[in-house]
Amino acid sequence: MRSIAVIGGGITGVTTAYALAKRGFAVTVFEKNRYAAMETSYANGGQLSASNAEVWNSWPTIFHGMQWMMRKDAPLLVNPKPSWHKLSWFAEFVSNVPNYKSNTIETTRLAIAARQYLYDWAETEQIDFDLKQRGILHFYRTQSSFEHAGHVSKLLAAGGLTRRAVTPEEMREIEPALTGRFYGGYLTESDASGDLHKFSQGLAAAAERLGARFLWNRDVRAVHSSGSTVQVDINEAHTPASAPTSALAFDAVVICAGVRSRSLAASLGDRLNIYPVKGYSITVPLTDEQSQRAAPNVSLLDDATKLVSSRLGVDRLRVAGTAEFNGYNQDIRADRIKPLVDWVQSYFPEINTRQVIPWAGLRPMMPNMMPRVGRGRRENVYYNTGHGHLGWTLSAATAEMLADLLESRE
Ligand SMILES: Cc1cc2nc3c(=O)[nH]c(=O)nc-3n(C[C@H](O)[C@H](O)[C@H](O)COP(=O)(O)OP(=O)(O)OC[C@H]3O[C@@H](n4cnc5c(N)ncnc54)[C@H](O)[C@@H]3O)c2cc1C
Repeated sequence: MRSIAVIGGGITGVTTAYALAKRGFAVTVFEKNRYAAMETSYANGGQLSASNAEVWNSWPTIFHGMQWMMRKDAPLLVNPKPSWHKLSWFAEFVSNVPNYKSNTIETTRLAIAARQYLYDWAETEQIDFDLKQRGILHFYRTQSSFEHAGHVSKLLAAGGLTRRAVTPEEMREIEPALTGRFYGGYLTESDASGDLHKFSQGLAAAAERLGARFLWNRDVRAVHSSGSTVQVDINEAHTPASAPTSALAFDAVVICAGVRSRSLAASLGDRLNIYPVKGYSITVPLTDEQSQRAAPNVSLLDDATKLVSSRLGVDRLRVAGTAEFNGYNQDIRADRIKPLVDWVQSYFPEINTRQVIPWAGLRPMMPNMMPRVGRGRRENVYYNTGHGHLGWTLSAATAEMLADLLESRE
């Protein structure tokens, strides 16, 4: 298998293309946008966070989620209108509660492995993506949430991650810009943050230098596999569904299509129950000196609101979070953006928030919160998708795993 089609030019598609091109495969990436990383990989929280590897399949999280459903400004929102997709996803989510510990440990291991690949690639390819290796600080307002974090730390440690408890005084030393009253925090010094979109652009260019071909503006309308060859039917993006398609042939295909992977998989006889879990971000331009001084440099995770923040270069602060179960809907709702702006105003009151750039993206989330990496039902169909809330954190490792698998099958 030498010629490989990769469907999707988000972070998973770009890392897959790079890992395959490095091994000498003839790679063609199909992406319906004009550039890499324009969908969920565009303006995420920016965290490379092994410390956020805890999967959500646990009774306390489910209980919390049910309480949140009663509150309008809560981090979780579920559209009550039932759909088979949503119901089957939640049923599978609950059935994965027994795997909470093992999946948290496995995610931690993957995240640690991914970090090393990512740093190596960025150095080799000279990619500037506003990387800040100053750790990630999780903070807690209550004793019970802090104690729960202590239990999670044990699972993270079993996966190989060290993080340490810090007092409110130590938190202020670590991040002097942070105001507010806290019970305590956990600092993961090995975690980092940066701009995923910039990184994806840089790595796509590096993959091109290694010989990968990127076909932008191409909408993949169908993928067919005979077991030994793959046919990809494409159209220029934005042409009507009825327009005739052109077909290209490959030895194998890797599906990295984010929330669209589910329907492509179904057409190839595979079931990937990915649900689009919407999240929001704001990017605050730090245009004046006072805002730059008042903004945090250390990447943060606020446990109560589930919001994260990352400083991108000198003049941008990204704040992201919330989980909304509302189908394939990318509308930016003002009432979901407001809590993000309020969060900046309450913790970093000196930052000017007159102008913020809002964004919404759909996390491709599997019910067990684990990415799907490996072969499908057909011999030459592969998946590297379903990375949910940790796509950037995990993608370099899963791309390497997938590329190793393809190489071993040669
Ligand atoms: C608010 C928010 C905050 C987040 N914060 C973090 C964080 O701090 N750290 C972290 O690690 N992760 C974070 N994530 C998760 C992370 O951003 C995602 O897991 C990741 O971007 C998913 O990448 P992907 O390549 O799977 O999907 P995408 O980036 O969506 O890429 C899929 C690509 O496939 C293309 N495509 C789909 N179908 C077709 C087709 N038929 N033809 C052609 N092209 C097609 C799409 O156009 C798209 O570009 C966050 C997500 C959100 C929403």
